[in-house]
Amino acid sequence: MNAPPPARIAVVGASAAGLGVVEGLRREGYAGGLTLIGDEPHLPYDRPPLSKQLLTGEWGSDRLGLRGAAAIEALGLDLRLGTKAVALDTRSREVRLDRGGAVGYDALVVATGAAARWLAGTRGVAGVHVLRTLEDALGFRAELRPGVRLVVVGAGFLGAEAAAVARGAGAEVTMVTDAALPLGDVLGPVLGGMLAGVHVEHGVRIVSGTRAGTVLADHGRATGVRLTDGRVLDADAVLVAVGAVPNVGWLAGSGVPLGDGVECDATLYAGSGVWAAGDVANWPHPRTGSRIRIEHRTNAAEQGIAVARNILAGPGRAVPFDPVPYVWSDQYGLRLQIYGRTRGTDTVRIVEGAPEDRKLVALYADGGRVRGVVGVNMPRATRGYRALVAETAALDERSVA
Ligand SMILES: Cc1cc2nc3c(=O)[nH]c(=O)nc-3n(C[C@H](O)[C@H](O)[C@H](O)COP(=O)(O)OP(=O)(O)OC[C@H]3O[C@@H](n4cnc5c(N)ncnc54)[C@H](O)[C@@H]3O)c2cc1C
Repeated sequence: MNAPPPARIAVVGASAAGLGVVEGLRREGYAGGLTLIGDEPHLPYDRPPLSKQLLTGEWGSDRLGLRGAAAIEALGLDLRLGTKAVALDTRSREVRLDRGGAVGYDALVVATGAAARWLAGTRGVAGVHVLRTLEDALGFRAELRPGVRLVVVGAGFLGAEAAAVARGAGAEVTMVTDAALPLGDVLGPVLGGMLAGVHVEHGVRIVSGTRAGTVLADHGRATGVRLTDGRVLDADAVLVAVGAVPNVGWLAGSGVPLGDGVECDATLYAGSGVWAAGDVANWPHPRTGSRIRIEHRTNAAEQGIAVARNILAGPGRAVPFDPVPYVWSDQYGLRLQIYGRTRGTDTVRIVEGAPEDRKLVALYADGGRVRGVVGVNMPRATRGYRALVAETAALDERSVA
């Protein structure tokens, strides 16, 4: 027989992962006390559109909600929005809140996600932006006008998507990356080269192989970016898109194991009644044994549901979280989709389509085994190769349709 479920469950972080946990618990029949604490004032909303439909103006902020108010109400939560968890006492099993007081729990889920990384000394400088929250996106969107000179620092998914939208709004865009190509570390030289070509065709200037050193400002407003190689790029606005850091500061001194995120076991359990889900969770992937932390929207929701099930299964019955990671990105008319891992692989084989058509599927392998698949504008075909990633199939002739 299963042990009885914890009487009180608290979830900190009211976004994709936190919502996955509370919905997962109720769906599985959990009828106990459920507290959801989130420092943002909004009901859980979706972040991917912040650099896409919201940034283009195609959507208003009213379309971002992950659920309607009635659906959230129906979950019967003790919902604490606009409330920050500031400390955790795992002995008394209490989360302390910035508004004073504390929330007690029998099981706790940390779903506090990640925060945008800034360039040193640029916080508070007018015209310098990051892109993580709804407010960030609205603030950045207000800069996008024809002729505005925008420097995008970083050429990962976020930087590349924002550069594409900014060009659409008529901004003069320069994208700075310390890599050889935008997304080159994820996609490799052939697909990275194709993507760089698309950006250049759309008028983005790519400055590669160098870093942004300092942001130059006059009267508190950004005027340019000095690169570490000494060059200066004039700018009216700067977007800093250089990655995110997991929100674990409030867990300092709690005894919860911290490294790059909350260090869990394979079932997403961190000990002392504490679990983690989403961008903040770092766990040993059961298939590779290596610790990973994934910043993907689907992963956040799936981990939330997995944690809900594992809490209810109880000690000894919790199961490892063993996903095929999935992420997508929209840039201009291109939809990129990635299953599995592509970074650090030794072979890339295009199995359908061609880069010049901007429609293709490519397998990424390491040691002769398929680790990832990337699709460009071929969603159905791309999905067809997912099983090869799940099986880490041999990259032999049979692997190729
Ligand atoms: C602009 C943008 C575009 C993206 N596009 C894509 C995409 O195209 N595809 C994709 O797969 N992924 C994309 N992502 C990533 C995806 O949005 C994240 O993986 C996902 O949001 C992670 O969800 P989460 O719930 O783990 O964390 P988060 O969404 O970071 O939510 C954590 C929540 O916890 C709150 N919080 C933090 N600390 C505390 C505290 N101490 N007390 C209370 N609350 C706290 C935070 O304010 C936040 O509301 C994008 C992300 C961004 C920012």
